[in-house]
Amino acid sequence: ELQPLLAPELLSGTRAFDAYSIKQDFPILRQQVHGKPLIWLDNAATTQKPQAVIDRISYFYETENSNIHRAAHALAARSTDAYEAAREKVRRFLGAGSSNDIVFTRGATEAINLVAQAWGRRNVREGDEIVITWLEHHANIVPWQMLCAETGAVLRVAPVDDSGQVLLDEYTKLLGPRTRIVSLPQVSNALGTVTPAQEMVAIAHRHGACVLLDGAQAVSHMPVNVQALDCDFYVFSGHKVFAPTGIGVLYGKPDVLAAMPPWQGGGNMIADVTFEKTIYQPPPGRFEAGTGNIADAVGLGAAIDYLDRIGMGNIAAYEHELLGYATQGLLGVPGLTIIGTAKEKAGVISFVLDGCRAEDVGAALDREGIAVRAGHHCAQPILRRFGLEATVRPSLALYNTYEDIDALVAALHRIQTQKT
Ligand code: PLP
Repeated sequence: ELQPLLAPELLSGTRAFDAYSIKQDFPILRQQVHGKPLIWLDNAATTQKPQAVIDRISYFYETENSNIHRAAHALAARSTDAYEAAREKVRRFLGAGSSNDIVFTRGATEAINLVAQAWGRRNVREGDEIVITWLEHHANIVPWQMLCAETGAVLRVAPVDDSGQVLLDEYTKLLGPRTRIVSLPQVSNALGTVTPAQEMVAIAHRHGACVLLDGAQAVSHMPVNVQALDCDFYVFSGHKVFAPTGIGVLYGKPDVLAAMPPWQGGGNMIADVTFEKTIYQPPPGRFEAGTGNIADAVGLGAAIDYLDRIGMGNIAAYEHELLGYATQGLLGVPGLTIIGTAKEKAGVISFVLDGCRAEDVGAALDREGIAVRAGHHCAQPILRRFGLEATVRPSLALYNTYEDIDALVAALHRIQTQKT
């Protein structure tokens, strides 16, 4: 009987922030790697899953599994209810006005491709301009390059200063009457820079451009309100916010989604089909062709419930302190340089160590049970802006403790000592 998982007392109210007890909620973090306790500092790549999410997915397959909408029987009703309840949780999580503004996708990448293809093909013509920044993940570069290649539009890129922050004046200068869409990260996955997204959205709107915010690296670190940000689109991936892989979200303003043609065609997204003419569903169904990732959407709903109980404001405050502590600790390691020193950062620290390849540092940390990412982080242009092909990137989540940071810093001191 798995019912306690759904008990109302677990679904409301916040609990005092305690990273040590939060860590206990994540079974994977109890293991040892190479004989050392696992310290997971690769959260920007993917986050671990709390027991509540794992249990919720099992509960779905044990009691609710059915395709949604189509079949008129008890399990179809249960799975449809669970899927639509997850959509409502995402709506609340993002501060959207209606659950009809929430489209389930495979992840942030698919959501950006959906907009580039469906919105882009309708609204972008030869000579039009698309604006991104130097901070982008490849997922927010390549779909726009593909659209430019198809349409003859031009990609323009807003530069950053030496701290890794977008130069607002330069950004503003790039915008003009031909700018159709601006696509920006809220937080950079390579440097951790928090961009002035709200201001950048307002500037783009003054030029009549539509704005997509890539929230992949924001949602696990800070409260998000898409209506306050006033973005036209917002995307994120479930797996970076303690939910399963293979599920993600596209938020769109209702009028923008309503004017957008479908992307893929198939079942679910239609109201009526004849060989002569097909009538599409309104959003969000119009953009969800075929059988979606029902169980993992439900898992995403459970991850949001879990975060709600802790409180995103509490998480942001704790991680802010932890990031400051980690930055200080790392700066004490001889020969270590932090890449990306913007005033506003979240979740991510990128660094290089004199005389060591980033990949070797990553491998040495792995031998100590510490998982970080070493490489280009799918963001080659921004690393090259700093003359680099790779950095070491520890990245934080709500279950990381001060001891995790101490272990990282101590291991780096050892790596430096062994080298000399
Ligand atoms: N955007 C940013 C800023 C990211 O960090 C990532 C993943 O690292 C993505 C987009 C793509 O996410 P996914 O691979 O889950 O679709």
